Amino acid sequence: MTDNALNTSRSQEIFGAAQEIMPGGVSSPVRAFKSVGGQPIVFDRVKGAYAWDVDGNRYIDYVGSWGPAICGHTHPEVIAALHETLEKGTSFGAPCELENTLAQMVIEAVPSIEMVRFVNSGTEACMAVLRLMRAFTGREKVIKFEGCYHGHADMFLVKAGSGVATLGLPDSPGVPRSTTANTLTAPYNDLEAVKELFAENPDAISGVILEPVVGNAGFITPEPGFLEGLRELTKENGALLVFDEVMTGFRISYGGAQERFGVTPDLTTMGKVIGGGLPVGAYGGKAEIMEMVAPAGPMYQAGTLSGNPLAMTAGIKTLELLKQDGAYERLEATTKRLLDGLLECAKDAGIPITGSSIGGMFGFYLCEGPVTNFEQAKSTDTEFFGKLHNKMLEKGVYLAPSAFEAGFTSLAHSDADIDATLQAFSECFYEIK
Ligand SMILES: *Cc1c(COP(=O)(O)O)cnc(C)c1O
Repeated sequence: MTDNALNTSRSQEIFGAAQEIMPGGVSSPVRAFKSVGGQPIVFDRVKGAYAWDVDGNRYIDYVGSWGPAICGHTHPEVIAALHETLEKGTSFGAPCELENTLAQMVIEAVPSIEMVRFVNSGTEACMAVLRLMRAFTGREKVIKFEGCYHGHADMFLVKAGSGVATLGLPDSPGVPRSTTANTLTAPYNDLEAVKELFAENPDAISGVILEPVVGNAGFITPEPGFLEGLRELTKENGALLVFDEVMTGFRISYGGAQERFGVTPDLTTMGKVIGGGLPVGAYGGKAEIMEMVAPAGPMYQAGTLSGNPLAMTAGIKTLELLKQDGAYERLEATTKRLLDGLLECAKDAGIPITGSSIGGMFGFYLCEGPVTNFEQAKSTDTEFFGKLHNKMLEKGVYLAPSAFEAGFTSLAHSDADIDATLQAFSECFYEIK
């Protein structure tokens, strides 16, 4: 890197070594800076709204570990609770009361959830929920939407978002055609397309799964009537409606998108925030459906480390913090301030932009917009975004290294952090254009 205000020599050294021993040098593809150019920053530690890299540079962090850090990184109460639990053990492989506590909190928070099963990641939750959809309905097909990401299981790697979209990858090799033959896709916000799929596949569709607000193709909100329409269509056709709230759960409101939009699905998947920074996923829904899961019922799904005490503790503490009065109002105000300011900075500089925010989640596209589906999202100026990303880093702001990922704020982001970020955006827009 020439002409760089930032010294990132340690990062470069470590990442160079990583590339020799791990594919692409990372444990998950979006962490690599492939679509924005430059080399990833290697983190040393995180606290509140900030991340420090191994060269000692500090960044205002809008990735927040891709969502979990909603109370701010290493919140003292979460860390204290973890210390206490740590003394008792890291994994039991037997029932533990902390599971009851978190399960009860999730059931109270999320309208659709009467029973819940804990797993270790969002991918696992989505894999299991699809099996459950099929087991409950006795049907094999599933409808998903272009640009939505439901983890990396075979049957969901069709027109997927997240790293698949970022890297412009075709549907992945290694996924047998027979596995995805039952995965039908429709454009997001297109009820007519869903109607047609139901008409073309009578009594064969187990359900519809979607991100109720899309965060893996940038940031796309459901148009008025879309979620309601899906609720009706699935009901009419004897199919299940599944909200993948791995990203939106506890992020756009305490009860997730289903609370925010007042549409209750049959099943819900969760992840990210629910683990407070430790690996947790969950799926839940109506008791009559969840009773199908082993050992209550015949649908098999298991996990050696599932529901482990450390992960449960981080989740419980995080949800307790989020439950406090005014948490979501503050989060929403912070995010809106950032987004409104960002749109203004771009407009002042004459840069085409469209964007929005809900709760602690935001996104923008460098095009005129509006963007209501993945096809339209692709008209964002990815080259400009790459330059913007690099320049923002130099100015101490860490954005997701992809034009197709949502941004995340936290309760630790102060007005001063937002002001500093907007100042950086403003400078960058003028420097790049
Ligand atoms: C992150 C994400 C997943 C996958 O979760 P992992 O914990 O990364 O496996 C699934 N669905 C959505 C909507 C996500 O944002």
